Amino acid sequence: MTPIRHAAVVFLFLTTAPAQSILGFTPTSAAREAAVESKFKSVPTPDEERRQHRIFTAEPHIAGSKRNNELAEYIRDEWKKQGLEDVIIRRYDVYGTNPRSVSLEMIAPTHYQAVLREAPLDPDPDSKSSAISNAWFGMSISGEVTAPVVYAHGGNPEDYDLLRQNGISVKGKIVLVRNANPYSYRGFKALTAQREGAAAILIYSDPAEDGYKKGNVDPDGPWGPEYKIQRGSITYDFMVPGDPQTPGWASIPGAKRIPIEQAVSAPKIMALPLSWHDAKPLLENMNGDGPVAPENWQGGLPFQYHLGGERVKVHLKIEMDNGTQPYYVVEGRIRGSELPDEWVVLGNHRDAWVFGGVDPSSGTASMMELTRALGQLAKEGMRPRRTIVVCSWDGEEVALIGSTEWGEQFADDLRAKAVAYINVDEATSGPNFHGQAVASLAPMLEETTRTLDDPSGKNLYEAWRARVESDAKTGHQSGQFNDSGAANQTLSDTHLGSGSDYTVFLNFVGMPVLGLQFDGDYGVYHSAYDDFYWMNHFGDPAYKYHTLMSQLWGVTALRLANADLLPFDFATYASNVRQFVRELASTNKSVILSEVRAPRSEARTQSKDPVPTCTTCNPSGSFHQAFVSDSGAAQVSKSPTQLDLSQVEKQIDAFESAGKKLNESLRAKLASGPIDPKLALTLNHGMMQVERNWLNPDGIPGRPWFKHILYGARFTYAHLELPGLTEAVEAQDWSTAKQQAEILERALEKNTNLLNELNSTLNP
Ligand SMILES: [Zn+2]
Repeated sequence: MTPIRHAAVVFLFLTTAPAQSILGFTPTSAAREAAVESKFKSVPTPDEERRQHRIFTAEPHIAGSKRNNELAEYIRDEWKKQGLEDVIIRRYDVYGTNPRSVSLEMIAPTHYQAVLREAPLDPDPDSKSSAISNAWFGMSISGEVTAPVVYAHGGNPEDYDLLRQNGISVKGKIVLVRNANPYSYRGFKALTAQREGAAAILIYSDPAEDGYKKGNVDPDGPWGPEYKIQRGSITYDFMVPGDPQTPGWASIPGAKRIPIEQAVSAPKIMALPLSWHDAKPLLENMNGDGPVAPENWQGGLPFQYHLGGERVKVHLKIEMDNGTQPYYVVEGRIRGSELPDEWVVLGNHRDAWVFGGVDPSSGTASMMELTRALGQLAKEGMRPRRTIVVCSWDGEEVALIGSTEWGEQFADDLRAKAVAYINVDEATSGPNFHGQAVASLAPMLEETTRTLDDPSGKNLYEAWRARVESDAKTGHQSGQFNDSGAANQTLSDTHLGSGSDYTVFLNFVGMPVLGLQFDGDYGVYHSAYDDFYWMNHFGDPAYKYHTLMSQLWGVTALRLANADLLPFDFATYASNVRQFVRELASTNKSVILSEVRAPRSEARTQSKDPVPTCTTCNPSGSFHQAFVSDSGAAQVSKSPTQLDLSQVEKQIDAFESAGKKLNESLRAKLASGPIDPKLALTLNHGMMQVERNWLNPDGIPGRPWFKHILYGARFTYAHLELPGLTEAVEAQDWSTAKQQAEILERALEKNTNLLNELNSTLNP
C-alpha cells in the first residue's frame, strides 16, 4: 500500500461524500474504495447487457460446437479491446458426447413415432432455427433396445421400492420418469435406473412441474410448453467431475487418459429426455396396465397414471459420437497494482444446451459488462490491488469440464495465490436474489449488497432479506438446486451443493467460493425456448437484473481485490459449522452432542440457536454407501453404537473464540490506520490458508476427488455438509464415522491454532 496515493484520493473523496466503513478496509482505503465502486457501478448499462446477450443467444452453442468456439474467440477479442491482460484461450481435449442419431417409437399397443423436437413458437423467430438439436442427453451410451415401459415417478430409489411392493420389476425394461417432484439430478436418476437393471431411462417434464399447471406457458408466459425438452447430461460427476477419462488431472493435449470403461463418472445406460407431448402417448396407453399409480405419483396430464410394465412397448435407438474433442476456456486478467500474486477468480460458463437465454448467457452478458467496467477503471488508473482473473468456462453442461480441468491444471498456483472464486452461472431468470457463500464470506457479501440498488426500489440487501423471510414463512425453496433448511444463521445460503463451476475450487482446490444468481418462474430450463425472446418477455425484459448482476459481481470482486486485510469472518464460519453438526444430530438419533450427554437446564430445542431441519434433503444414505462399496471403498461394519461429537463441539467452540478474537484485533488494526505491508501479507496469507486446511488429501470415503471435509454434494446434487461424516453416520458405519469425526477435530484444531497465531502477530 502507498499511503501517499491514498491520501490524495481521500482528499478528493472527502469533499464529495461522507466516510463509510467497509469490512477489511482502513478508513482511508474505504473512502478510496467507495469512489472506485461508484465509478465501477456507473459503467454497465441495460442496453449493453442486452446487446451482449443477443450476441451470445443468436445461435445454439453447445460445448464443442463451432459456434461455441467462435464465441470463445469473440470473448478473447472483446477482452483485449476492453483492456484485459494476458488473455489466452486454453485447450482441453476431452471425451466427446454428441448425438449422431436418436429415435424412439412406441410399437405396442399402437404405433407412435416420438417427435423429439421442440415446435416453433410463432412470435419467437429463434425457435424456428434449423440449428436446434433434437432431444438427447450428454453421456448416454449408444445402443438399441425394444422393451416394455414402466412409469417410475421421480426415478429415485424409494420409487423402485414402491414398484417392487407392487410386484413390478424394471429389469430389462425401459423406465419413464419425471424431472422433478421432488427434484433430483438426472444423473442420479440414470445411475439409479442402471443399478436397478433397467435397459434405458426416459426423463420427461410433467406439466405439473414446470408447465401449464404452474401458469401461462411460453410464448404467453414463463412456463414450459407442450414440446419443451429439458436436455442435460447424466454424467456421474458426483463421483468425480470433469473429463471422465482424466479424473484428478487436466486434459491438456497429450495427457494420459484412462479407458472409458474404467471411468466411474461415465454412465452405462441409454437415456433420453422427452417433452410431455412425447411422454403422453406412452402414459395414456398404460391405462389399465398394472396398478394405478399412487396419488403423489399422479401428474398434470388429464388422465390417471398407471405403473405399467407390460402393455406399452417402445423401440429406442441412440447412436453417439464419442470421439475426443477440444473444449476451450478463455482466461484474462487485470493485473494487480500492488499484490499481483494474490488472485480473485471469477467465472461463468459459455456453453449452452441450445441458445442459453438464462443458462448461461444471462451470466455471460453480465460478465462482459463486468469486464468492460474493470477495463475502463484500469485505463483510468483505478487498477485493483490484487489480480482479478476472469474465465469463460466450456463444457459446464456436460460435467463441469472446463472449470474442473482448469482448476486441476492450476491447483498448485491457486492454492498459493487464490483469495476466493465468485461464480455466476445463470445471472437471472427473475427478480429474486439468491446469494451462496462459504460462511467466512457471508458477512462481506451481505455488507456488499447494502450498497447496491435493487430495481424494486429497496437496496439489494433489503430486497434479499424480504425474500428470504417470505420464503421461510411459505416454506418455498428458491433456486434450481438449493433446498437449504430454514433458520440459516446468515442471509447467504451456506449450504453449497454441486451443479455449477465452483465445485473444483471449493472441493478440490480448497478456495472459499461465492455464487450469485437472480431467480424467478422459469419453465424452459435447458430447452430451445430458453432464449432471447423468453428473456425479453419474462426473465428480465429491461435488463435491469443483468446490470445489477454486473455491478454486484464486480463490487464483490473489487472488495476482495482491494481489501487491506481480507474480509473473512471465521467466527461466523465456526457458528456455521456448529449448525452443520446440529443438523446432523437432529436427523440422526445416534449422534450425541454435549448437551444431550450432560443435560443442562435448557433442552436442546429451547437453546438460543434454533436447530434447523432440512426437509427436502433426500438423503438416500444407504444407497450412497452401497455404490461407494461397489467402487472398492470401506466395508461397512455395523454395530449398535452411538457417535459422541462433544470433542468436535469443543473444537468448534475454540475455533469460534479464536475467530472472535481475530475479528476484534483486525477491526482495531484497521481502525488505527495504514497497515505495514509485511504484516498485511502475513495476515492475509494466513487467512487464505484456513480454507485449504479443510481439505483432507484422501478425500471423502469412496470419493477421493472431493477433498473438502465441510462441504460436499449428494448424488442428487443436493448440498451435503460434513460429507464424509454424514454419509458414514447415515450408513451406520461407526468406525468410519469416528475416523471422520477425528479428521474434523484435527482440522478445527489446526485452524484454531492458525487463527491464534495470526492474533498474536497482531498483538505481540
Ligand atoms: Zn448453467
